[in-house]
Amino acid sequence: ILRVDNLTKSYQSGGQTLTVLHSVSFALEAGDTFSIVGPSGSGKTTLLGLCAGLDRATSGSVYLNGVQLDNLSEDQRAAVRNQYVGFIFQNFQLLPTLTALENVMVPMELSGLGRQNGRSIEQTARELLERVGLGKRGHHYPTQLSGGEQQRVSLARAFANRPKILFADEPTGNLDTDTSATVVDLLFELNREAGTTLVLVTHDLDLAARTQRVIRIKGGHATGDTNTIARLSD
Ligand code: ATP
Repeated sequence: ILRVDNLTKSYQSGGQTLTVLHSVSFALEAGDTFSIVGPSGSGKTTLLGLCAGLDRATSGSVYLNGVQLDNLSEDQRAAVRNQYVGFIFQNFQLLPTLTALENVMVPMELSGLGRQNGRSIEQTARELLERVGLGKRGHHYPTQLSGGEQQRVSLARAFANRPKILFADEPTGNLDTDTSATVVDLLFELNREAGTTLVLVTHDLDLAARTQRVIRIKGGHATGDTNTIARLSD
Protein backbone atom coordinates (compact mmCIF):
# COMPACT_ATOMS: atom_id res chain seq x y z
CA ILE A 1 0.00 0.00 0.00
CA LEU A 2 2.92 2.36 0.68
CA ARG A 3 6.49 2.13 -0.55
CA VAL A 4 9.11 4.74 0.15
CA ASP A 5 12.47 4.46 -1.65
CA ASN A 6 15.51 6.53 -0.70
CA LEU A 7 13.41 9.50 0.24
CA THR A 8 15.39 12.69 0.76
CA LYS A 9 14.03 16.13 1.57
CA SER A 10 15.98 19.38 1.64
CA TYR A 11 14.81 22.90 2.34
CA GLN A 12 16.48 26.04 1.02
CA SER A 13 16.70 28.85 3.50
CA GLY A 14 18.93 31.91 3.52
CA GLY A 15 20.98 30.55 0.62
CA GLN A 16 21.69 27.36 2.54
CA THR A 17 20.45 23.84 1.93
CA LEU A 18 19.12 22.03 4.98
CA THR A 19 18.59 18.32 4.46
CA VAL A 20 16.03 17.09 6.97
CA LEU A 21 15.51 13.54 5.63
CA HIS A 22 18.31 11.33 4.35
CA SER A 23 17.47 8.41 2.09
CA VAL A 24 14.64 6.84 4.09
CA SER A 25 13.15 3.58 2.76
CA PHE A 26 10.40 1.25 3.96
CA ALA A 27 7.36 -0.58 2.63
CA LEU A 28 3.98 -1.30 4.20
CA GLU A 29 1.36 -3.90 3.31
CA ALA A 30 -2.33 -3.03 3.39
CA GLY A 31 -3.63 -3.33 6.95
CA ASP A 32 -0.25 -2.78 8.61
CA THR A 33 0.06 -0.58 11.65
CA PHE A 34 3.23 1.47 11.70
CA SER A 35 4.67 4.19 13.87
CA ILE A 36 7.37 6.75 13.34
CA VAL A 37 9.12 7.84 16.51
CA GLY A 38 12.11 10.04 17.26
CA PRO A 39 13.20 13.29 18.86
CA SER A 40 11.60 16.65 18.16
CA GLY A 41 12.79 18.17 14.89
CA SER A 42 14.11 14.87 13.56
CA GLY A 43 11.95 14.90 10.41
CA LYS A 44 8.92 12.81 11.39
CA THR A 45 6.25 15.28 10.27
CA THR A 46 8.16 15.91 7.06
CA LEU A 47 8.27 12.17 6.33
CA LEU A 48 4.55 11.78 7.05
CA GLY A 49 3.68 14.68 4.72
CA LEU A 50 5.76 13.20 1.89
CA CYS A 51 4.17 9.76 2.31
CA ALA A 52 0.68 11.28 2.22
CA GLY A 53 1.45 13.36 -0.87
CA LEU A 54 1.07 16.68 0.96
CA ASP A 55 4.54 17.67 -0.17
CA ARG A 56 7.09 16.52 -2.71
CA ALA A 57 10.47 14.93 -1.96
CA THR A 58 13.76 16.37 -3.21
CA SER A 59 14.75 12.90 -4.40
CA GLY A 60 13.53 9.34 -3.98
CA SER A 61 10.09 7.89 -4.62
CA VAL A 62 6.76 7.38 -2.88
CA TYR A 63 4.24 4.82 -4.16
CA LEU A 64 0.81 5.07 -2.57
CA ASN A 65 -1.56 2.25 -3.45
CA GLY A 66 0.55 1.64 -6.55
CA VAL A 67 0.51 5.28 -7.69
CA GLN A 68 3.90 6.97 -7.91
CA LEU A 69 3.48 10.44 -6.39
CA ASP A 70 6.82 12.03 -7.29
CA ASN A 71 5.99 13.46 -10.68
CA LEU A 72 2.37 14.34 -10.06
CA SER A 73 1.12 17.93 -9.93
CA GLU A 74 -0.40 19.29 -6.72
CA ASP A 75 -3.90 18.75 -8.15
CA GLN A 76 -3.11 15.16 -9.11
CA ARG A 77 -1.71 14.47 -5.65
CA ALA A 78 -4.84 16.03 -4.10
CA ALA A 79 -6.97 13.65 -6.17
CA VAL A 80 -4.96 10.65 -4.90
CA ARG A 81 -5.31 11.93 -1.33
CA ASN A 82 -9.06 12.39 -1.67
CA GLN A 83 -9.37 8.86 -2.95
CA TYR A 84 -7.16 6.89 -0.57
CA VAL A 85 -5.87 8.99 2.31
CA GLY A 86 -7.08 10.24 5.68
CA PHE A 87 -4.86 12.69 7.53
CA ILE A 88 -4.96 13.85 11.14
CA PHE A 89 -2.85 16.96 11.62
CA GLN A 90 -0.90 17.84 14.74
CA ASN A 91 -2.85 21.11 15.03
CA PHE A 92 -6.16 19.62 13.71
CA GLN A 93 -6.55 22.13 10.83
CA LEU A 94 -10.31 22.27 11.09
CA LEU A 95 -11.91 24.96 8.96
CA PRO A 96 -12.86 27.68 11.46
CA THR A 97 -15.86 29.00 9.54
CA LEU A 98 -17.53 25.59 9.37
CA THR A 99 -19.29 23.67 12.14
CA ALA A 100 -17.98 20.32 13.37
CA LEU A 101 -20.56 18.54 11.21
CA GLU A 102 -19.65 20.57 8.10
CA ASN A 103 -15.94 19.90 8.67
CA VAL A 104 -16.64 16.16 8.61
CA MET A 105 -18.76 16.52 5.46
CA VAL A 106 -16.06 18.35 3.46
CA PRO A 107 -13.94 15.36 2.39
CA MET A 108 -17.04 13.43 1.26
CA GLU A 109 -18.13 16.40 -0.83
CA LEU A 110 -14.65 16.87 -2.29
CA SER A 111 -14.20 13.24 -3.23
CA GLY A 112 -17.63 13.10 -4.83
CA LEU A 113 -18.39 9.98 -2.79
CA GLY A 114 -21.85 11.35 -2.12
CA ARG A 115 -24.24 8.94 -0.52
CA GLN A 116 -22.66 5.97 1.22
CA ASN A 117 -24.72 2.81 1.74
CA GLY A 118 -27.89 4.73 1.00
CA ARG A 119 -27.16 7.36 3.66
CA SER A 120 -26.71 11.03 2.89
CA ILE A 121 -23.39 12.76 3.49
CA GLU A 122 -24.93 14.55 6.45
CA GLN A 123 -26.22 11.33 8.01
CA THR A 124 -22.83 9.68 7.57
CA ALA A 125 -21.11 12.71 9.12
CA ARG A 126 -23.52 12.62 12.08
CA GLU A 127 -22.81 8.94 12.63
CA LEU A 128 -19.07 9.58 12.54
CA LEU A 129 -19.40 12.35 15.12
CA GLU A 130 -21.46 10.04 17.31
CA ARG A 131 -18.78 7.40 17.01
CA VAL A 132 -16.17 9.80 18.41
CA GLY A 133 -18.55 10.83 21.19
CA LEU A 134 -19.54 14.21 19.75
CA GLY A 135 -23.04 13.44 18.53
CA LYS A 136 -24.45 16.51 20.27
CA ARG A 137 -21.74 18.92 19.17
CA GLY A 138 -22.24 18.90 15.40
CA HIS A 139 -23.45 22.50 15.28
CA HIS A 140 -20.47 23.85 17.26
CA TYR A 141 -17.64 25.74 15.60
CA PRO A 142 -14.02 24.69 16.24
CA THR A 143 -13.40 27.64 18.60
CA GLN A 144 -16.30 26.39 20.75
CA LEU A 145 -14.65 23.01 21.20
CA SER A 146 -11.77 21.96 23.45
CA GLY A 147 -8.50 20.71 21.97
CA GLY A 148 -9.51 17.10 22.60
CA GLU A 149 -12.91 17.63 21.00
CA GLN A 150 -11.31 19.27 17.96
CA GLN A 151 -8.97 16.28 17.73
CA ARG A 152 -11.96 13.93 17.71
CA VAL A 153 -13.66 16.00 14.97
CA SER A 154 -10.46 15.76 12.92
CA LEU A 155 -10.54 11.99 13.48
CA ALA A 156 -14.16 11.78 12.28
CA ARG A 157 -13.18 13.87 9.24
CA ALA A 158 -10.23 11.59 8.50
CA PHE A 159 -12.56 8.55 8.64
CA ALA A 160 -15.14 10.16 6.36
CA ASN A 161 -13.84 8.80 3.07
CA ARG A 162 -13.14 5.38 4.52
CA PRO A 163 -9.46 5.82 3.61
CA LYS A 164 -7.25 2.88 2.72
CA ILE A 165 -4.47 4.51 4.69
CA LEU A 166 -4.68 6.90 7.61
CA PHE A 167 -1.79 9.17 8.55
CA ALA A 168 -1.89 10.71 12.02
CA ASP A 169 0.61 13.25 13.34
CA GLU A 170 0.73 13.01 17.14
CA PRO A 171 -2.90 11.85 17.38
CA THR A 172 -2.74 11.86 21.18
CA GLY A 173 -0.37 14.80 21.62
CA ASN A 174 -2.90 17.24 23.05
CA LEU A 175 -5.22 14.86 24.83
CA ASP A 176 -5.71 13.80 28.43
CA THR A 177 -5.28 10.12 29.28
CA ASP A 178 -8.96 9.15 28.90
CA THR A 179 -9.55 11.01 25.65
CA SER A 180 -6.27 9.71 24.33
CA ALA A 181 -7.34 6.12 25.05
CA THR A 182 -10.64 6.73 23.23
CA VAL A 183 -8.89 8.14 20.17
CA VAL A 184 -6.34 5.32 20.06
CA ASP A 185 -9.08 2.69 20.43
CA LEU A 186 -10.96 4.29 17.52
CA LEU A 187 -7.85 4.19 15.33
CA PHE A 188 -7.23 0.50 16.00
CA GLU A 189 -10.93 -0.29 15.58
CA LEU A 190 -10.77 1.23 12.10
CA ASN A 191 -7.72 -0.87 11.37
CA ARG A 192 -9.40 -4.07 12.55
CA GLU A 193 -12.82 -3.47 11.05
CA ALA A 194 -11.99 -1.79 7.75
CA GLY A 195 -8.39 -2.95 7.30
CA THR A 196 -7.22 0.66 7.20
CA THR A 197 -3.44 0.95 7.24
CA LEU A 198 -2.29 3.18 10.11
CA VAL A 199 0.81 5.36 9.97
CA LEU A 200 1.33 7.27 13.21
CA VAL A 201 3.89 9.83 14.27
CA THR A 202 4.07 9.72 18.03
CA HIS A 203 6.17 10.52 21.08
CA ASP A 204 4.10 8.02 23.03
CA LEU A 205 6.12 4.80 23.18
CA ASP A 206 3.17 2.87 24.64
CA LEU A 207 1.20 3.78 21.54
CA ALA A 208 4.13 2.89 19.27
CA ALA A 209 4.37 -0.48 21.02
CA ARG A 210 0.79 -1.24 19.95
CA THR A 211 1.69 -0.96 16.25
CA GLN A 212 3.19 -3.90 14.40
CA ARG A 213 6.18 -1.96 13.15
CA VAL A 214 8.19 1.01 14.30
CA ILE A 215 10.71 3.20 12.54
CA ARG A 216 12.93 5.58 14.47
CA ILE A 217 14.04 8.82 12.83
CA LYS A 218 17.02 10.65 14.24
CA GLY A 219 18.59 13.63 12.50
CA GLY A 220 16.70 12.69 9.35
CA HIS A 221 18.07 9.12 9.28
CA ALA A 222 15.93 6.03 9.78
CA THR A 223 17.63 3.91 12.40
CA GLY A 224 15.31 1.02 12.93
CA ASP A 225 12.40 -0.65 11.27
CA THR A 226 11.77 -3.64 13.43
CA ASN A 227 8.89 -5.71 14.60
CA THR A 228 9.65 -4.88 18.17
CA ILE A 229 10.44 -1.72 20.05
CA ALA A 230 13.68 -3.15 21.35
CA ARG A 231 15.62 -0.28 19.85
CA LEU A 232 13.38 2.46 21.09
CA SER A 233 15.32 2.87 24.30
CA ASP A 234 18.53 3.89 22.41
P1 ATP B 1 8.32 17.47 16.15
O1 ATP B 1 8.36 16.17 16.86
O2 ATP B 1 8.84 18.61 16.97
O3 ATP B 1 7.01 17.77 15.47
P2 ATP B 1 9.48 16.46 13.67
O4 ATP B 1 10.35 15.29 13.93
O5 ATP B 1 8.11 16.21 13.18
O6 ATP B 1 9.42 17.39 14.96
P3 ATP B 1 9.79 18.08 11.30
O7 ATP B 1 8.63 18.96 11.58
O8 ATP B 1 9.66 17.07 10.24
O9 ATP B 1 10.28 17.38 12.65
O10 ATP B 1 11.02 19.03 10.97
C1 ATP B 1 12.32 18.52 10.65
C2 ATP B 1 13.26 19.67 10.38
O11 ATP B 1 12.88 20.33 9.18
C3 ATP B 1 13.26 20.74 11.46
O12 ATP B 1 14.60 21.12 11.69
C4 ATP B 1 12.46 21.86 10.87
O13 ATP B 1 12.90 23.10 11.36
C5 ATP B 1 12.77 21.71 9.39
N1 ATP B 1 11.67 22.21 8.52
C6 ATP B 1 10.39 21.73 8.48
N2 ATP B 1 9.66 22.39 7.56
C7 ATP B 1 10.49 23.32 7.02
C8 ATP B 1 10.34 24.33 6.00
N3 ATP B 1 9.19 24.49 5.35
N4 ATP B 1 11.43 25.09 5.70
C9 ATP B 1 12.60 24.92 6.33
N5 ATP B 1 12.82 23.98 7.29
C10 ATP B 1 11.79 23.21 7.64
